[in-house]
Amino acid sequence: MYKILVLPGDGIGEEVVCEALKVLKRVESIAHLKFETKEALVGGASIDKNGVPITEDVLKAAKNSDAVLLGAVGGQKWDQLEYKIRPEQALLALRKELGLYANLRPVAVDPSLTDASSLKREVIEGVDILVVRELTGGIYFGTPKGIEKNKDGSERGFNTEVYSTHEIERIAKKAFELARKRKRKITSVDKANILESSILWRKVVTEIGKRFPDVQLSHIYVDNCAMQLIRNPKQFDVIVTTNLFGDILSDEAAMLTGSIGMLPSASLGDHHALYEPVHGSAPDIAGKGQANPIAAILSVAMMLRCTFQLHDLALAVEMAVRQVLKEGFRTADICQDGVNLTSCSEMGNLVAKEIKV
Ligand code: NAD
Repeated sequence: MYKILVLPGDGIGEEVVCEALKVLKRVESIAHLKFETKEALVGGASIDKNGVPITEDVLKAAKNSDAVLLGAVGGQKWDQLEYKIRPEQALLALRKELGLYANLRPVAVDPSLTDASSLKREVIEGVDILVVRELTGGIYFGTPKGIEKNKDGSERGFNTEVYSTHEIERIAKKAFELARKRKRKITSVDKANILESSILWRKVVTEIGKRFPDVQLSHIYVDNCAMQLIRNPKQFDVIVTTNLFGDILSDEAAMLTGSIGMLPSASLGDHHALYEPVHGSAPDIAGKGQANPIAAILSVAMMLRCTFQLHDLALAVEMAVRQVLKEGFRTADICQDGVNLTSCSEMGNLVAKEIKV
């Protein structure tokens, strides 16, 4: 019996998680497994009901689960709230409480979607990158931070980019281990020509690299990496980087696939794991049945592989997605000509039906 806490959240979060659960049900029935799922509120939905983006009970339930499946949080309705009780705070609380320091974002271009990207087919065909982003350190958590008044009445906003040796060691180790299961090539991204925290980052990653002589390590500055992702993305296998650089670069890499609606993610710690699509709650299309549920469905595949070690079933889900796309079915975000335009729920049904063992 596997225990999964399901947190649909806001906007299209609810819609795509509903489709991901269809896929999970299908996996249960064909593989004769049992997933015990428990649903709870998070983000704006939790603020409306409980006054906070996530309750202590939900955090406790997350800790007591084998894995968490999250949709997305946020929306205009809650944008005016004080920063500390905004929906996005739920994500930071989950990451911190569950110790989810490694965010894995695979960026693979589906062969049927090479024309959905804004880049040329020959640039993106065959792209297969894993972005490993540090998730619990760096400038998003560093102190001091704040907004202060200057003597002249103007204001001064500041944050602190800070990394300690052990934080860099554990994310680097995770990235090297993952690279061993792929093409054994790592690119570490930093800004070591300017930032002291990056000088330490580069030094520690290089040290960890000595323990993995079979993995080829190279270093690149973040500005060059942003450029190379567009110029020649096929040169990358595993990219490991800080919280801030990873946040930006993984969204850039997302667009290689044609739509952010295609990209799953896993956030891993030593004892817990959370799976979620890369995208947000997409208020512009929420409630219209237009969302692409594939990122959420592929997040379930990542859960099957990373947490439950059900590699064949993870592959079966990924193959089902590939087959449905090959047959030409498209949600609006990846549909070029209106042919075979498929709703969120139809896409979920098609993928679930296609899963075979
Ligand atoms: P977004 O990812 O929600 O949307 C960006 C664009 O991509 C929109 O045009 C949207 O329609 C489209 N899109 C996103 N997912 C899609 C899907 N599955 N299928 C089809 N199209 C899709 O980012 P945003 O607009 O910057 O943010 C909206 C809200 O989501 C904000 O409140 C933000 O804070 C929140 N957010 C939450 C998360 C999260 O929960 N992890 C991540 C990012 C943003």
